[in-house]
Amino acid sequence: MNPRPRLDEPLPRALGQARGKNPLAKLGLETVGDLIGHYPRRYDDPGRLTDISMLRAGEHVTVMARVVQATVRPMRNRRGALLEAVITDGRHHLSLTFFGKHRGSLYAHEQRLVPGRTGLFTGTVGLYRGERQLTHPAFMMMGEDDLESDEDMLAEAARPIPIYPAAANVPSWKIAKAVRTVLDTLTPPDIPDPVPMEVRARAGLPERLAALRKVHRPDTLSDVRAGQHRLRFEEAFVLQAALAKRRALATGRPATPRPRVVPDTGGGSLLADLDARLPFDLTAGQRDVGDEISAELATDRPMQRLLQGEVGSGKTVVALRAMLQVVDAGGQAALLAPTEVLAAQHVRTLRALLGPLAEGGMLGGAENATRVVLLTGSLGAKARKEALLAAASGEAGIVVGTHALLSEHVQFADLGLVVVDEQHRFGVEQRDRLRDKANSAPHLLVMTATPIPRTVAMTVFGDLATSSLTEVPAGRAGVTTHVVPAGNGRWMDRTWARVREEVDRGGRAYVVCPRIHPDDDGGGGGGEDGMETVPAAEPATLGDDAGPGPGEPPAVPLRAVLEVVEELRGREQLAGVEIGVLHGQMAPADKDEAMARFASGETPVLVSTTVVEVGVDVPEATVMVILDADRFGLSQLHQLRGRVGRGTAPGLCLLVSDAPPGGTAGMRLEAMVRTTDGFELANTDLELRSEGDVLGAAQSGRSSSLRLLRVVKDAKLIEQARAEAVGVVAADPDLHYAPELAAAIAEQLDAEQEEFLERA
Ligand code: ADP
Ligand code: MG
Repeated sequence: MNPRPRLDEPLPRALGQARGKNPLAKLGLETVGDLIGHYPRRYDDPGRLTDISMLRAGEHVTVMARVVQATVRPMRNRRGALLEAVITDGRHHLSLTFFGKHRGSLYAHEQRLVPGRTGLFTGTVGLYRGERQLTHPAFMMMGEDDLESDEDMLAEAARPIPIYPAAANVPSWKIAKAVRTVLDTLTPPDIPDPVPMEVRARAGLPERLAALRKVHRPDTLSDVRAGQHRLRFEEAFVLQAALAKRRALATGRPATPRPRVVPDTGGGSLLADLDARLPFDLTAGQRDVGDEISAELATDRPMQRLLQGEVGSGKTVVALRAMLQVVDAGGQAALLAPTEVLAAQHVRTLRALLGPLAEGGMLGGAENATRVVLLTGSLGAKARKEALLAAASGEAGIVVGTHALLSEHVQFADLGLVVVDEQHRFGVEQRDRLRDKANSAPHLLVMTATPIPRTVAMTVFGDLATSSLTEVPAGRAGVTTHVVPAGNGRWMDRTWARVREEVDRGGRAYVVCPRIHPDDDGGGGGGEDGMETVPAAEPATLGDDAGPGPGEPPAVPLRAVLEVVEELRGREQLAGVEIGVLHGQMAPADKDEAMARFASGETPVLVSTTVVEVGVDVPEATVMVILDADRFGLSQLHQLRGRVGRGTAPGLCLLVSDAPPGGTAGMRLEAMVRTTDGFELANTDLELRSEGDVLGAAQSGRSSSLRLLRVVKDAKLIEQARAEAVGVVAADPDLHYAPELAAAIAEQLDAEQEEFLERA
């Protein structure tokens, strides 16, 4: 039996409409549950009019304004009549236009548009002879509502007006009316509440239905706040309970313990041999985190750990040491990288660090040596077969790859540890899929260089414990950052002259562009170049529909790799300097070759897209020039800058941009100049971004279940919800006594699964 018959009731039935006729379906609202989960976007004060100067052409808007005049006249050149009205917010005017076959057909509208009266008007802002206007807007005049008594009318007039995300022909007030009709007939038992009663009591929260009434039908704005608070708590609570369950599940499956092998008690130890041959001392942080990981690997509970570390803090060595402990104990390790370039780079780095220790079965290899193999989608058939065999036979202690490692055909003899590098590009489901390849639950180490504020980490990676590497190995000379105005010829000449000086001194320079082809109009051309998009302007506050972004197209087209490389080859400052190219549309072998030629100094200047963003390590690189720097997100800029100044020579980062200093983009660039501290940048980033972006960038697709929750502002609430959720799950792991919570979690998982399948 359906435990929630009212919520699943189709809207036409609930609203007493003809069967099969549901105008709200346009907004994806099919059931009563959908409708009451469609929250208002904002609330208008009944006394305050919308600022008309903020409206932009192309936006779908709902405007509260006063009628100034309305006149009907015949059309000049053809048959028919025209009703022209003007509305105002007291300072600015907006015209409304309605066309009719004849005067009479406009009469009803004219009657309602009484000068001096206030109404809500909704439609798409158009331009006519340079003036903004709404053509055939839907509208509702205040006081037109079919209210029963004067008392109702008075109460109604003082209430905040909910403004809903709307669509053409489904104006905000029609939604409001439908919500009202439905809410009036619901009783608490109709609305399952995933937040158990004790939790509600402790946190002082209203019941779910009461909260919904406050959000949809508030008497005052403080009602709105109370209702939203309760619904936000619920979002955080359900998510945290899901994460707590996931954690319990992941750690509930036993893992094979992989204790550290002590070298002198029989047999060799790759880990000890590596430590002996490392060309540097581990930092204190690397040692501490290493010990923490080592101890967890030795237990029969699978490790679930996130390692955060500033760019260049040396996460690779930490991961390698963990992998060797597992190999020493007889298991295998898989290292998952987000791009082929990075996977290939990891293989080179690991082999270089291991030397003869990675030459298992080869002449000159160490006695206890293992093998490091690369397994990516673009390997040739023969190489692929070899790599698959090495993984399946256990001959390869370490298997490095991209998503290809997730494919059905890849099998391991005894997978003991999964390391995921640069986590934010992998979804939870992908992690799970790799984990499922092991007989017992493998240990998991997730590494990210993007510093994540605590509450975001809690929301997105709530199923992982966290370690941080905060120091960068000594002896790094650091990076200086400047903003270069793109339109200033002298500065640009100087930029390329600086690149030349560094090259002459034996350095290398990256030149990063946002696009590949000059005639593309999109971003980096997809694939591995996918760039984190940054809104070109502040989000609109008045738009009722998401629609196309509010940003005007940039006046000057974005710089493209293929065009910039031509320009630089013709530049006198760079005469005689070899310039290479790297972007995601190149064949993998060509990418590897471009990287290798850059690393060796054959092409000391590399023009590329953001493929070099993550993890690429060329110690000789001293300059990073980023063109159209304002088009990149802060974490991306930080990652890019982290590519230089990794050796002993000081690094230089030049951010080329024409972004005005006061705007969001300008402020991002200023933050880059001000600090190299990743955590400070992450916080600035959060302040400058809108919430959706934060989660959008840090997670894959989970935002659908978070409608009201704001991960930064709601930090306290998230912590409270987490503590409560952990308590509930610990006391009742199967959620026997909280079936409504269990159902909410299941529903959320379904939604995630669906999104995952859609993206796959
Ligand atoms: P990230 O944390 O960004 O992945 P890497 O692991 O790529 O950083 O390390 C950056 C560079 O620092 C590499 O060249 C690595 O060999 C070097 N490195 C790592 N640990 C140390 C250390 N303790 N002392 C000196 N150099 C180190
Ligand atoms: Mg790295």
